[in-house]
Amino acid sequence: MELLNVHRIVDVTAAEGPGLRCAVWTQGCTVRCPGCFNPQTWTTRGGTLMPWREAADRVLRARAEHGVEGVTLLGGEPFDQPEPLGALATAVRAEGLSVMTFTGHLLEDLRQRPDCAELLASTDLLVDGPYLADQPEPSRPWVGSVNQRFHFLSGRYDRSILDAPNRLELTIAPDGSVDLNGFATTEALEALLAPVRERNNR
Ligand code: SF4
Repeated sequence: MELLNVHRIVDVTAAEGPGLRCAVWTQGCTVRCPGCFNPQTWTTRGGTLMPWREAADRVLRARAEHGVEGVTLLGGEPFDQPEPLGALATAVRAEGLSVMTFTGHLLEDLRQRPDCAELLASTDLLVDGPYLADQPEPSRPWVGSVNQRFHFLSGRYDRSILDAPNRLELTIAPDGSVDLNGFATTEALEALLAPVRERNNR
């Protein structure tokens, strides 16, 4: 399978895993956790179909231009498209980049699926488990609920990365369009938006 269905790619972010990373959001999710923050990625329609090699080249360009240390694959559900993503992950890892992958499935279940073998073998850091809206995560970075697990599948990372703070990134493009990514608690979002609300109420 050559083609990858992509929701969006951010060339450099400090909010989607350890260090600076290129982030690839896939289009399409069959897990469908109630309360998901990205329901617009559930459908397989509306994404951009591209050869995995093109996406891999963009990640490698992000290293050359922005010094990213790896790619983060998130969704959508990356394991709905394990073959093109496995090829992408293998290609960028061969160039020395790290791979972090999020999934709403459990690692034990993915290990039973032969089509997932390459993506698992090329993932350094896997975050697994569905998002449970009634069990919010109070402290660990990048995850939404307490059930979600970090699996260090290679020696590239260890638990020390969990000391990183959560970040929320707001990007305003030259055309005025606004992009938001990263993760923040409702309280942090409220604190961020309070001055804007106050100004609008004047
Ligand atoms: S797996 Fe991720 S994208 Fe899919 S529904 Fe759950 S939180 Fe949303």
